[in-house]
Amino acid sequence: MNPLKSSYFWRMTLSHVVFAAAAILFGASLWVLPVALVAASYMSWRRLIAMEHLTQTTEAIAQGDFDRRVPEQHTPGFKRLADAVNLLARTSIRRVSMLTADRNRLATIFAGMVEGVVDVDEKQNIIHINDAAALLLGLVRESSVGKPVWQEIRDQKIILAIDDAIRNRTVIKVRVDYPRNTEQLVFDIYVASLSDDQGEPIGAVLVLHDVTELKHLERIRTDFVANASHELKTPITAIRGLAETMVGDPDVDKSTLLQYMERIHAQSLRLSNLVTDLMTISRLESDQATASFTRINFNDLVRREVKAAASAVEHKFHSLTLDPFPETLEVYGDRQNLSQLCNNLIDNAIKYTPEGGQIKVRVRREMADAVLEVEDNGIGISPQYQERVFERFYRVDKARSQSLGGTGLGLSIVRNIAERHHGSVGVSSQLGKGTTFTFRIPLAEPALPGTEPPKS
Ligand code: ATP
Ligand code: MG
Repeated sequence: MNPLKSSYFWRMTLSHVVFAAAAILFGASLWVLPVALVAASYMSWRRLIAMEHLTQTTEAIAQGDFDRRVPEQHTPGFKRLADAVNLLARTSIRRVSMLTADRNRLATIFAGMVEGVVDVDEKQNIIHINDAAALLLGLVRESSVGKPVWQEIRDQKIILAIDDAIRNRTVIKVRVDYPRNTEQLVFDIYVASLSDDQGEPIGAVLVLHDVTELKHLERIRTDFVANASHELKTPITAIRGLAETMVGDPDVDKSTLLQYMERIHAQSLRLSNLVTDLMTISRLESDQATASFTRINFNDLVRREVKAAASAVEHKFHSLTLDPFPETLEVYGDRQNLSQLCNNLIDNAIKYTPEGGQIKVRVRREMADAVLEVEDNGIGISPQYQERVFERFYRVDKARSQSLGGTGLGLSIVRNIAERHHGSVGVSSQLGKGTTFTFRIPLAEPALPGTEPPKS
């Protein structure tokens, strides 16, 4: 075969093939291109939709709508993103409900606290104030929130303490005398600064303790110790003076000596009464329990005390009468305490009634109470002293009471005993005419058959 002819043949064949391929490619491109374009547009439309869903859902979650979810995604690359956004929503719900529960718990604790709590921000605006704090400070809780603390709490010491605590990031303790309406209260206040995670100050919290009662009790105790020491010192000084005179003058005549001895005896008696009364008060205060309480026939107890006073009554030529009992009254209490109460009232009636006086003792029932009345026609007590006679060491006429061996503790013991028995004691009196002391004590519940107290 001719080589020239054969190469021409191959060249022709190749160009035909190329031409045919180009024709095929051209033909195919006429329909493949539009299909590709449509497919690409469809894909980008789906992506756009998915993006829109994701954007809307994340925006809703950011605004607190944690129930929103991204619909299930089939668009490649978006499924993981959608799952992540949905997981974020679910965990956010859990976190928010945990935070809400914590906040509610804190709010319940604050509300239930006896101590006042005030929470202020770094600009010293009140963020939170519990009921106790509002009550103590005399504020209206709802209207105080959001206001500057200095506008609501008008006490320089408290405001300075808050300022100091925030500025120096520390805890400050102050005791404040706080006027509320007509009262004067005393607070112990702790102010603690609050900081955020970065240690930046975000405000302070105030905790208020009302120590008014405590301070009052402290004062009573201090006064009591001072009064008791003074009362003890008086007879001791008198005894010492008399004894020193006797020792210093051995030639003193017998009658003067006797006088001295009598005065020493009287002072030592006074001393002994005082110590007994002080011990009674201490016992009454420390023993508030009702362990020593028994069922007592109140009529019998009063009858005995009236009988026991017979010699003192005779001594002053008084008449002491006990009205007949209309019925037997039983009370629940401490026998020794109630006897002492009865004795103290009768003793006062005898002491503060001039010779030949009339003292009447009555026991009666009034509703659910047993009532004891001790009436005399003695010197009486003027109205301005009638409540004060129940105070410790209070005597209307100190000289007269002292000369009668009085310590001024008798009626305070009576009131203490009355309160210990859930009862009360009161006085009505007219100066120069006489006095009636009235003691009320709840009657005991009716006794079960076979448990009545023995008749005496
Ligand atoms: P104590 O009872 O401790 O020995 P006291 O009698 O002076 O001393 P209270 O019994 O507490 O003390 O009485 C206080 C004061 O009340 C008396 O000092 C007296 O001034 C007045 N008082 C009490 N009872 C009567 C009464 N029946 N009539 C007039 N004044 C009374
Ligand atoms: Mg007395």
